[in-house]
Amino acid sequence: MPATLPAARIRTQLMVPLRFADGYSTTARVFTFDGLVDRREHLAFGLGDRAGALASVGHRGRPPLVRPHSECLTGDVFGSQRCDCGPQMREAVERIAEVGGFLLYLRQEGRGIGLYAKLDAYALQDAGMDTYEANLALGYSADERDYTAAAQMVHALGLTRVALLSNNPDKAAQLSRLGVVVTERVSTGVHLSAANARYLATKARRGAHRLDVPPAGPHTQGLAGGA
Ligand SMILES: [Zn+2]
Repeated sequence: MPATLPAARIRTQLMVPLRFADGYSTTARVFTFDGLVDRREHLAFGLGDRAGALASVGHRGRPPLVRPHSECLTGDVFGSQRCDCGPQMREAVERIAEVGGFLLYLRQEGRGIGLYAKLDAYALQDAGMDTYEANLALGYSADERDYTAAAQMVHALGLTRVALLSNNPDKAAQLSRLGVVVTERVSTGVHLSAANARYLATKARRGAHRLDVPPAGPHTQGLAGGA
């Protein structure tokens, strides 16, 4: 762990059975933390054969699969079709549960600008801007997310090496700088819907995300004002 990164520690841990809208269910060991630098209430969800995954640290086995997921109230909870956060989280939980690892639920809504500002940005997008331009117009940077607390959580959980479930190169870069050894990046699927096609295309183009978004086809036409 870098000397500049304050240590966090596990505050509580408890089992929570999960059941998603499509019927998929699993059980998570939920961790809370003391000492996170931004004082937000971030959570870690230990999924699958967590003990086996942890035991593989330092051995030849694959390190635990870890996904840092930034909170998106509209997508995660209400199923908003303007983004792909809900399906991304649902996919991540199942994939991590299969191999063992952690989903880090990070309370940095709207790429770190907050819920109201995210909705303000949506309004600007409805007027023709893309998601990045809208953030800039509101006085924010294109992406204000910071993974310092995520790195603290990884260290507090005793993980030294992780396989990172993410299409976002910035997550891997920030975590590496914070002393987390990312042994591989595992891509998530593309959750394309009519309403989020434009959002995903922008994310791929502007954020250098590793997404194979198909060109606009019959099912994405006429939706320029969507995501
Ligand atoms: Zn979202």
